[in-house]
Amino acid sequence: MQYNGRQEDNMATTSVDHQNSFIVSAIRQIDSAVTAQMRWVADFNKSLICGTPLDPSVLAADGYRSCAFGQWLYAERPREWDEWRAEFDHIETLHRSMHANARALIEEKSGGAIAPTNYDRFMEASLRFRFAMRALSFRLIDEICLIDQLTGVWNRSSMFKRLNEEQDRMLRSHQSCSICMMDLDHFKHINDTHGHIAGDKVLQAVMEIASRRLRAYDAIFRYGGEEFLFCLPNADTGIAVEAMERLRQKIADTDIILKDGATVRVTASFGVAPLSAAQPLETSMEEADRALFCAKANGRNRVCRSDTP
Ligand code: GH3
Ligand code: MG
Ligand code: MG
Repeated sequence: MQYNGRQEDNMATTSVDHQNSFIVSAIRQIDSAVTAQMRWVADFNKSLICGTPLDPSVLAADGYRSCAFGQWLYAERPREWDEWRAEFDHIETLHRSMHANARALIEEKSGGAIAPTNYDRFMEASLRFRFAMRALSFRLIDEICLIDQLTGVWNRSSMFKRLNEEQDRMLRSHQSCSICMMDLDHFKHINDTHGHIAGDKVLQAVMEIASRRLRAYDAIFRYGGEEFLFCLPNADTGIAVEAMERLRQKIADTDIILKDGATVRVTASFGVAPLSAAQPLETSMEEADRALFCAKANGRNRVCRSDTP
C-alpha cells in the first residue's frame, strides 16, 4: 500500500484540513447569520415604533425563507452539516416561530395597540433563536479545540473526559474496554533524515491509516509528540491485541510518499492494557505504558500486553 496524502475513493472519513476549515467557516457563517437576524429584529422593531416601511416578505406566510437567515438556512447545505442536523431542526423551528410571532404583531398593530404579552412572546422567540445559534457555535468551537490540528485525531484535552465516560459506560454495561499506547519507532531518525515537515507528514499518514483501520466507535488521541492512545470499547485484551497487530502490520507495510517523492516506511510499538472501572485511569494508562516499554525493549515494531493471557 502507498500513502501519498490523497484520499482514496473508498475512504469514508473527511480529511483533517477539510474538516477543520469546514468548522472554522461554519463558525463564521453562524456569526454572520446571527448578525443578520439582529438587524432584522432591529428593522422590525423600528417599523413597529416609527412606522417605517417593512420588507413585504415579513408579511408573507413563507417570510422565514426569504429573510437573509432563511436564505442561508434553506440553501443547500454541505454534507458536513448533517452531523448537526438535530440542532438545525431546533433552530429552524425557533426561526419559524419568531417569524410567525412577527406576522401576528403586524396584524395586531393594524387593528390598534399591541398587547405587551404578545410583544414579549415575539422577543422571547427571537432570543431563543439567537441562544440556539450561539449554542451551536460553542459546540463547533469545542469541537475544534478538542482536535489535534496536525493529525485530526482527538487531542490530549479530550482524552481524560472521554476515558472517564468510557469507565462509566463499563459500569453500566459490564462490557470490557481496552486501551493501547502506540509510539512510533526511531521517529527522531525520520526527522533527522528527511526534516520535520516530512516527519509531520508521516504522523498524518499513520493517523490516516489508524482512522481507516479502527472501528467507528474506537477513539484515537494524540497523547503527545509521536505517541498516541487508542480507546477500544467492547474489546477485551485479546481482541485489542489482534486489532493492534493488524494495525502494526499495515503501518509497517505502507510506503509513505513525501513531498520530494522520496518514500519512507515507519514502524510502531504498541502496549495494550485493559481499562478498568474499578481503578483510576492513570493506573490503566501506566499499565499500557509499561507494556509499550516492553515492546520497545523487545526490539520495537511489536504489540505487548500488560497482562499475560
Ligand atoms: P523510540 O523508538 O525509542 O521511540 O525512538 P524515537 O526516535 O521515536 O523517540 P524519541 O523520543 O527520541 O524522539 C521522538 C521524536 O519525535 C523527537 C521529536 O522531535 C519528534 N516529534 C514529536 N512531535 C513531533 C511533531 O509534531 N512533528 C515532528 N515532525 N516531529 C515530532
Ligand atoms: Mg515517544
Ligand atoms: Mg518514538
